[in-house]
Amino acid sequence: MHRYFVAPVLGVLAMTPLSGIAAASSGSPLLQPWPGPYGGTPPFDAVHVADFKPALETGMAETWAEIERIANDPQPPTFANTIAALEATSRALDRAYIIYSIYGTSMSDDAYQAVEREMEPKLAEFNDRITQNEKLFARIAAVYDSPDKARLTPEQQRLTWVYYTNAVRAGARLDAPGKKRVAEINQRLATLYTQFSQNVLADENEQAVTIADASALAGLPESARTAEAEAAAERGNKGQWAVVNTRSSVEPFLTYAERRDLREKVWRMFVDRGDSGGKTDNNAIIAEILKLRAERAKLLGYPTFAHWQLENKMAKTPERALELMEAVWTPAVARVREEVADMQAIADKEGAGIRIEPWDYRYYAEKVRKAKYDLDENEITPYLQLDKLRDGMFYMAQRLFGFTFTPLPVGSVPVYQSDMAVWKVTNPQGELVGLWYFDPYARTGKRSGAWMNAYRTQERFEQDVKTIVSNNANFVKGKPGEPVLISWTDATTLFHEFGHALHGLSSSVQYPSLSGTRVARDYVEFPSQLLEHWLSTPEILNRYAVHYQTGQPIPAALVEKIKRAEKFNEGFKTVEYLASALVDMKLHLAGDRPIDPDRFERETLAELGMPHEIVMRHRTPQFTHVFSGDGYAAGYYSYLWSDTLTADAWEAFTEAGGAWDAAVAERLRKNVFAVGNTIDPADGFRAFRGRDPDIGALMRKRGFPVARTGAASATTGGAQH
Ligand SMILES: [Zn+2]
Repeated sequence: MHRYFVAPVLGVLAMTPLSGIAAASSGSPLLQPWPGPYGGTPPFDAVHVADFKPALETGMAETWAEIERIANDPQPPTFANTIAALEATSRALDRAYIIYSIYGTSMSDDAYQAVEREMEPKLAEFNDRITQNEKLFARIAAVYDSPDKARLTPEQQRLTWVYYTNAVRAGARLDAPGKKRVAEINQRLATLYTQFSQNVLADENEQAVTIADASALAGLPESARTAEAEAAAERGNKGQWAVVNTRSSVEPFLTYAERRDLREKVWRMFVDRGDSGGKTDNNAIIAEILKLRAERAKLLGYPTFAHWQLENKMAKTPERALELMEAVWTPAVARVREEVADMQAIADKEGAGIRIEPWDYRYYAEKVRKAKYDLDENEITPYLQLDKLRDGMFYMAQRLFGFTFTPLPVGSVPVYQSDMAVWKVTNPQGELVGLWYFDPYARTGKRSGAWMNAYRTQERFEQDVKTIVSNNANFVKGKPGEPVLISWTDATTLFHEFGHALHGLSSSVQYPSLSGTRVARDYVEFPSQLLEHWLSTPEILNRYAVHYQTGQPIPAALVEKIKRAEKFNEGFKTVEYLASALVDMKLHLAGDRPIDPDRFERETLAELGMPHEIVMRHRTPQFTHVFSGDGYAAGYYSYLWSDTLTADAWEAFTEAGGAWDAAVAERLRKNVFAVGNTIDPADGFRAFRGRDPDIGALMRKRGFPVARTGAASATTGGAQH
């Protein structure tokens, strides 16, 4: 997943309106226009955590003065003096905010977290002061309702619609007590979101299973042993091994460790993040978040938070999202039964004398894979070097979109971490497209998982602004001088996040609020998921999946095995994901009744018929997608929704000349990657595909039977637009 930063204006605010502050008065480098080449780059070399608070406060005060000027303009409201004027505000604050938020995901420490706890409610208050400004909203509404709107460009009309609906959805039409209550709720939520993510981060950073005896590592590949040895040393236990409580550390252990008791111990530690009853327990926080979200949705005139959230997404209603999820759930559970039977058979044959439990799933799935497909992850990994695959992504970007990536000399632009690197991206004419920052390695204070971030979005509004995007991951840094070898799953994630980056880099729009990845949340994963497919093309594998010792390309027979095993374990993957997505949606459809998260989760899963051998990919107390902000709340279904589009779009390539078909790639660039949020996503997809998406491709992709009727109605098309 990736993170949005505050959209110009609608995310932002000030304590005391300080009118008349000149931009030049804000001396902080965080607020200044970014210095240096490429239209300026983030001044990471000038960041001091202590500067965040004063910079954000000055930025909010300046933005507030700009907002007041627009709201009190004596001229009648027009697109130019209202909507375009709003697009031009908040530049300094946006610059400070993005660096502040980068530190939140990537460089978080105690000092930073103290600032975060203080500033998040203030930023929420600022946001509400803008969206609730009555004079400002009256002007936005006047432009939105004016017959003159028809004379604006389509992009300007879309921008006006975005400002208007965002304001209405934030409570601009409420009476004074209603507005006051929404603002109180938002501030309280901001505090709760911060506490929630800090609790999960604390459990991930501080908890580990330490192993003193090398024999307990039986089954683990060298890369996992190395990482665990380093983690133990970092924690003052040199000569031992530590399985840290993060996904990148836990999953390899669960896949390979022969010691079942240790697998169970590690598994329990991981699934109990945020749920251990101590000071980092998130249950009370979740209950309060759900109650406040439900109350706010009601105030705004929606039956539940889910209805509010889905209204401006491609799905439009929770019912349509549920319909899609349920259409996939049943065949996925059926597939899990088959997978478990295969695993149980192997365990029985080995005389293990066990029944498959959740801490056995990955371990025995790996054995089934070897038995059924003769495929061993450890056979693939030596061919998956991080640096080479990165070059493979550049090759893909070149062939599909005409982008050339050129590394910048170390030190030529500032970075916040010494092992980051930066590339310049140019088009076939040699013109600058943007910059790509890569922060690949795990470290303390960095959120787990992988994501894309836009440091600056493309626009042609006041000037021609080139984008700056980043990809962030948690690969385990190997020994100095040795290549970093990654798993097939990690390689897929690498291509996924790069898809987000290319979405940002391809943007060609006028206004920053509509730029790049600032599209509906259930559409944003479509470009990224689609690009995952290019990893397994022969052009990428033969050139870039080369053995780290011999330099030989991955053998064709091994690629064939990978292809045959592609749908392997799809029951597990779909069910662990969908269980989370369904619980998320149902929590937000439950209204304002008091909720005990653990109990709700247990009962919902029982009702769904959750296979006992699988646990949710993100259990409720650690579900940062859903409880560290509003973004993916009642929105985790987005990955499945997007994948429906993805599967169908990939078939557009395979039906034509294949993965590198230039005409299909050009249609994709033009209608999906370049347009940002300037058009309705359903229209963009239709222009690319020639029709609305259909669920059949998704079912084929996952190896599930395609229903002849019924499920086919769960398309993600434009029927309800
Ligand atoms: Zn993503």
